Amino acid sequence: MSQPSSLPARARVVVIGGGIVGTSIAYHLGHLGWTDTVLLERDQLTSGTTWHAAGLMVTFGSTSETSTELRKYTRDLYTNLEAETGLATGFKPVGFIELAADEGRLEEYRRVSTFNRHCGVDVQELSPREVADMFPLARTDDLLAGFYVAGDGRVNPVDATMSLGKGARQTGVTIAQGVSVLDVLARNGAVCGVVTDHGTIECEYVVNAAGMWARQLGARSGVSIPLQAAEHYYLITEQMDGLDPSWPVIEDPANYGYYREEVGGLMIGLFETECAPWNVGAIPHDSSFTSINPDWDRMGQYVEAAMSRVPVSLDTGIRTFFCGPESFTPDLRPIIGPAPEVRNYFVAAGLNSIGILTGGGLGRLVAHWIVDGDPGADVTGMHPARLQPYQSNPEYRRTRTVESLGMVYQCHYPNKSLHTARGAKLSPLHARLLGQGAFLRDVSGWESADWFAGPGQTADGGPLTWGRPAWWANWEAEHRACREAVVLMDMSFMSKFRVQGREAGAVLDRLSGNAVDGACGEITYTQWLNERGTLEADLTVTKLADDSFFVVATDTAHRHVESQLVRAAGASHVFTTDVTGAYAQLNVQGPRSRELLQTLTTADLSDAAFPFRAAREIDLGFARVLCVRITYLGELGYELYVPTEQAVHVYDRIVAAGPAFGLRHAGLKALASLRLEKGYRDYGHDIDNTDGPLEAGFGFALAFDKPGGFVGRHVVLARRDAGLERRLVSVLVTDPEPLMHHAEVLRRNSVAVGYLRSASYGHTLGGAVGLAMVEGHGEAITPAWLAAGSWTVEINGALYPATVSLRPLYDPSNARIRM
Ligand SMILES: Cc1cc2nc3c(=O)[nH]c(=O)nc-3n(C[C@H](O)[C@H](O)[C@H](O)COP(=O)(O)OP(=O)(O)OC[C@H]3O[C@@H](n4cnc5c(N)ncnc54)[C@H](O)[C@@H]3O)c2cc1C
Repeated sequence: MSQPSSLPARARVVVIGGGIVGTSIAYHLGHLGWTDTVLLERDQLTSGTTWHAAGLMVTFGSTSETSTELRKYTRDLYTNLEAETGLATGFKPVGFIELAADEGRLEEYRRVSTFNRHCGVDVQELSPREVADMFPLARTDDLLAGFYVAGDGRVNPVDATMSLGKGARQTGVTIAQGVSVLDVLARNGAVCGVVTDHGTIECEYVVNAAGMWARQLGARSGVSIPLQAAEHYYLITEQMDGLDPSWPVIEDPANYGYYREEVGGLMIGLFETECAPWNVGAIPHDSSFTSINPDWDRMGQYVEAAMSRVPVSLDTGIRTFFCGPESFTPDLRPIIGPAPEVRNYFVAAGLNSIGILTGGGLGRLVAHWIVDGDPGADVTGMHPARLQPYQSNPEYRRTRTVESLGMVYQCHYPNKSLHTARGAKLSPLHARLLGQGAFLRDVSGWESADWFAGPGQTADGGPLTWGRPAWWANWEAEHRACREAVVLMDMSFMSKFRVQGREAGAVLDRLSGNAVDGACGEITYTQWLNERGTLEADLTVTKLADDSFFVVATDTAHRHVESQLVRAAGASHVFTTDVTGAYAQLNVQGPRSRELLQTLTTADLSDAAFPFRAAREIDLGFARVLCVRITYLGELGYELYVPTEQAVHVYDRIVAAGPAFGLRHAGLKALASLRLEKGYRDYGHDIDNTDGPLEAGFGFALAFDKPGGFVGRHVVLARRDAGLERRLVSVLVTDPEPLMHHAEVLRRNSVAVGYLRSASYGHTLGGAVGLAMVEGHGEAITPAWLAAGSWTVEINGALYPATVSLRPLYDPSNARIRM
């Protein structure tokens, strides 16, 4: 590898950090022909976190298609790399078994297995007897099952990194060790170079793959990367008789442990429920090959529990008790992609203890993102823009990280919500909603009502379950109130922007697939596309005046939408102001919403005077309110944007008038069930950056003929002419009993053709509902094709008949909206 003296004065890409992630990115950039790439490593390759990883290489376990594909590719890469570079990665396909020791995990792993098989991972369910045959030292009397992937196993993280480094160098990429990047330089909002302790390198792109240091480095450029290092443990026992290195790796989340052979002893890795952040203030710049003094007092109980799975370990001495730092993120997803703050500044960090087993695939994904502008996978869950700057605060990181590592091994029940770092953002109605019995959940930091407890009930959620939760009846009543009477829903967490200026209309119209610069006083539902004709955002644009617009998007899209707006505006006369906190958003929805609101305003709300899509400022009590007739729930309804200081006043007026109309408070559970009955999409959940608008069912929202067109138009037209082989369909399970949550596999004539991207329960339709992207495998997906098939969904190992439809299953003619 190169020494500092040979540093070039310029390069196209500078990758910062020679851990598994940075090295893999450099390798893949080289293989894509971008050999004018320099990787700079502060110390030696692997000296950060990579050197001490346990090296589990597991493809089982995720219900994210992107993550599963990353794992599969990584495993293949580690298998084949030696043939290319001559350096072995140490990958040993000894197999992997996930143990289910309780009913919750059994159901989780069965559901995951179905999805993983659909993605091409060969998972077999084993009996406890079969587990015992494969790992005879494990106690199996309390097990319910094991989930086995024969091709998984273990890899040597240092060897894999060195092999990737050699492969990168063979393509012409430069790797320089002992070079610290001190700063990233930007000009006109875009990267233009890096300052190192060995001089400056001009460059077009930077990738911050600096592991646990990435946050500090990002902060120097104003790039927010809210990750935090935490203590992470494994131990290695003395020599253990009878332990065979060819046995599979096993993982026992219920006992916090994973197990594999290591030089004749047993390695036991640990994921404790409450973990310890490491160096919240700043990661020391010079800490290399770090080994932290183990906290025996804190870890003792977990070590004991984990050892109980392999009882002989309790009587075997411990040779090493190792603790090293690893980076964790607020939502346990990595932070990968372009930073919204600085153009051409990519982040690839925050791997949450799976950097080795996803590192190969991440390198490829990031390299394609830089070279082609297309990551080639759904990146909505990993994009840096989904997170927010306040999450980088020391207090936030110190608080949230305690929970993050432990989440890895918990049973991932569908309604589980995070309990740390709460109360960061409160709606102006917070106290009022609590008074109504709101059960609160964290929505991008906002305390938001999930459902409401009735009189005499406590809003504690009851035990977590894959089945019907304790609050099922509350949820159903909220759902029915929206269909039959009227509900009040606080959605103040929505991202809101005021876009003003002489050219605001033109810029928004060019960004939007729909025509958004028409009449004043009208809201338009639209998508924003990229040049490849796939979705970047899903939002509404309300034209308030010729030079003033109101843009509303979902909470997780906040920074992505904002940065797209700012970048699209460029030097035009357009000014974007984030007004999220300036307005509460109160939803009054349901067939009696008009009657109710009409008692509170002098504005004429009749259909003739205030039609669907109208947006007007109205009087409501002492307040002035932007009232928009639109719905995300499938009924006649209104969104009220109320200045924060008048939100309580407006709320009180609505609640006081409510009883005569059957008003009920409704939460986010009802939001999900109502919108999915109606087939309304949610960006980042059922639609993402890999989908074209036609596949996603947005043909009705594309104004192909508007003057000036829109970004991505020609690609969409070409795809339309070629015929659509993927379509998002609504799915309803005919049997009212089984519940879908996400990732259930959908079959047509017994052949798997897709999976549920989002799911809920349709209390009006009478069964589990959701949205699935269906692949035609060479056939165009038309209503006739759907009708000709026999459809089933696999739920927890059983097949259930289902109805599928391109049109909404509830009120397909929109009659209820246009009352
Ligand atoms: C105990 C333990 C067990 C683990 N087991 C597994 C496992 O079994 N499987 C798995 O998939 N993952 C595992 N992990 C997680 C895995 O080790 C990490 O996810 C992975 O190594 C992260 O790689 P990285 O490249 O992001 O970070 P790092 O390896 O930390 O690389 C970042 C590099 O950036 C360099 N750097 C920092 N700042 C600068 C700068 N300013 N200029 C230049 N260079 C800089 C650092 O020196 C460092 O080498 C484990 C982690 C721990 C702690």
